[in-house]
Amino acid sequence: MLTIWISLIIVPMILGLWAQARVKGAFGKWSRVAASSGITGAQAAREILTAAQISDVEVLEINDMLGDHYDPTRKRLCLSTGVYDSASVAALGIAAHECGHAIQHAKSYAPLKWRAAVVPLTQFASQILPFVIMGGFLFHMMQLITVGILCYLVLTVFQLITLPVEFDASRRAKIILQQMGMVRAGEEAGGVNQVLNAAALTYVAALVAAVANLVYLLLIRNQSR
Ligand SMILES: [Zn+2]
Repeated sequence: MLTIWISLIIVPMILGLWAQARVKGAFGKWSRVAASSGITGAQAAREILTAAQISDVEVLEINDMLGDHYDPTRKRLCLSTGVYDSASVAALGIAAHECGHAIQHAKSYAPLKWRAAVVPLTQFASQILPFVIMGGFLFHMMQLITVGILCYLVLTVFQLITLPVEFDASRRAKIILQQMGMVRAGEEAGGVNQVLNAAALTYVAALVAAVANLVYLLLIRNQSR
């Protein structure tokens, strides 16, 4: 059982930490390299939105490192200070990626809608999960383990839908940055790829972890029968 625990719980956890470290590493490296276009993340975001004929999305600065996101309910594109004010290759990559989400929203990209639909259920599942797992193992209550299985099923579906949403936003970002001349082909475009591909890896790691946890709980439940 120890090998199963290591391979299904510890290995995915290490994979997740490694992916996060890669994001920080790629961002650290390319946030120090200025793009030759000289525009900041915020300017790039506004230009990209205008070019996509999106006029009702606000570009805001937030004080949360790597917390950049697009909020579809309030139509806000939130960029962290290191992206908003920076003219670096990393900043342009992230700003364009978030614009990718705003464009998905404007074009009613189906996976983005599915993702928004499962967000409330996913939040509920992640909130009750720690108590469900703790209670299930402490008191050997198999009903709680079954609830845990359902929670991980929800998380797996959510992470699965997240993949096309994130991959598509990055694909759009890479094309737009080159087409609009914000990033030069070669080294600069390579830097954008490194930052966005590292970010994509964290979503793959999250999916692997959700599936592994699901399988682990299924094994526990079957063993106790
Ligand atoms: Zn994204």
